[in-house]
Amino acid sequence: MTTALVLGGGLAGVAAAQTLGAAGVTTTLVDRADYHQFQPLLYQVATSQLPAEDVARPLRTIFASAPGVEVLVQDVVAASFADRSLTLDDGRTLTADHLVVAAGGSPNFFGIPGAAEHTFPLYSVADAERLRRHHRALVTEAAGAPVEPGALDIVVVGGGPTGVEVSGALAELFTALRKAGRLPDEGRVHLVDRGPAVLGPFSERAQQYAHRKLTDDGVLLRLGTGVDAVHPDHVELSDGTHLPTRTVIWAGGEKGPAVLAAAGAPTGRGGRLDVRADLSVDGFPGVWAVGDVANVPSGPGEGVPTLPQLGSVAQQSGRWAAENILRTTRGEGTEPFRYKDKGIMAMIGRNAAVAEVGRHRHEVDGPVAFAAWLGVHAMLLSGVHSRTDAFLSWAWDYFDRDHAATVESHDSPRRIAWGDATDDVPHIDLEPPRV
Ligand SMILES: Cc1cc2nc3c(=O)[nH]c(=O)nc-3n(C[C@H](O)[C@H](O)[C@H](O)COP(=O)(O)OP(=O)(O)OC[C@H]3O[C@@H](n4cnc5c(N)ncnc54)[C@H](O)[C@@H]3O)c2cc1C
Repeated sequence: MTTALVLGGGLAGVAAAQTLGAAGVTTTLVDRADYHQFQPLLYQVATSQLPAEDVARPLRTIFASAPGVEVLVQDVVAASFADRSLTLDDGRTLTADHLVVAAGGSPNFFGIPGAAEHTFPLYSVADAERLRRHHRALVTEAAGAPVEPGALDIVVVGGGPTGVEVSGALAELFTALRKAGRLPDEGRVHLVDRGPAVLGPFSERAQQYAHRKLTDDGVLLRLGTGVDAVHPDHVELSDGTHLPTRTVIWAGGEKGPAVLAAAGAPTGRGGRLDVRADLSVDGFPGVWAVGDVANVPSGPGEGVPTLPQLGSVAQQSGRWAAENILRTTRGEGTEPFRYKDKGIMAMIGRNAAVAEVGRHRHEVDGPVAFAAWLGVHAMLLSGVHSRTDAFLSWAWDYFDRDHAATVESHDSPRRIAWGDATDDVPHIDLEPPRV
């Protein structure tokens, strides 16, 4: 009987384990968290639009009707590709016929002094919840007594999709809090990027749309400027400015996770694993890498560009690697990964988004792009939830009405009506390892 180990319960790992389990492969999925986390909705958690539990689905629930899949909640402290093994933090070492590495990414601080210690990365629900609580404490403090200049300002580092989306969500939260008389005038969101425009991978039209929307919402864009150092109470910018702040959000880049370091295969661009067109790791039979942890080629052949770190790439590559494992067990050859491109998109606020969809990268913005965003993300969620209608209904309400200020004051975000059993809750530890 064929056995498989899957490291990571994100979109890639879940898709791989579901496909393997359904085909009768004895599969063990290991994740340090007891839940799958849906990263595209982390901003909504950080800005009080959704409770953390709504974007963290217990892995045991996802695999409840998959008897062939065992879920282990453990930190993997070492991996060895040569013998397809994972060593867990309880000292056990597991091996299998196939090892699917789906361990995601980790923040890349590029050695900037103070960045690892004093910034808030946004990779997990724990990160998002930590940021929400930190900001809420600052706002509460400001309501009781005057605070020093910049104490309520937030500096977002990185103007890619993550930085733009979180800045847009924060700008809306700030506006809502101000309208409710809960935030003094001086609280500002600054978005800093070394490049000349936000949303680097998008078209010029999308970049201009995002620039205009952010500026209209009060975000202060500092383009062509880098961050040289981060301190507990200010950041140093490359133009010599010192921006006072107690909240720096790191959206400045990601790299492969630390567990790859001694696994045996050299890492490629971004500290990620280079994979062959069929998603296997060269030189290590039975080892596959999928999702954010991998540099996934966009097609067969040498030197082709790699695909971006996106939910649909993760989900599709996870499923594809599993299908290739099944092909090998049937004695067939593997197939090169064929990505069904869903386009690229970014949601800048409740009614504002940009999207480039279809083979010809048709550009849309505003409510049409918001609808495209919803469709693509509902599809991603359908891999872990049976009630995507509940997500869509929450999303349209979010689109229509701003609940942020009410939510902040009552600590009761509007829930997505997933219909899960009440005891079916994830255990969210606010201090998980960052790498
Ligand atoms: C803030 C944010 C917003 C995003 N927004 C979008 C969006 O709108 N649309 C989109 O398509 N994409 C978006 N993305 C990208 C998308 O979320 C990722 O590409 C995708 O989720 C990656 O899935 P994955 O399974 O490869 O990795 P992950 O989802 O990161 O899963 C990796 C899993 O591995 C586990 N793990 C790692 N190391 C260990 C270890 N040593 N031991 C045990 N467990 C371990 C982790 O706990 C985690 O559960 C966003 C990403 C972020 C960070």
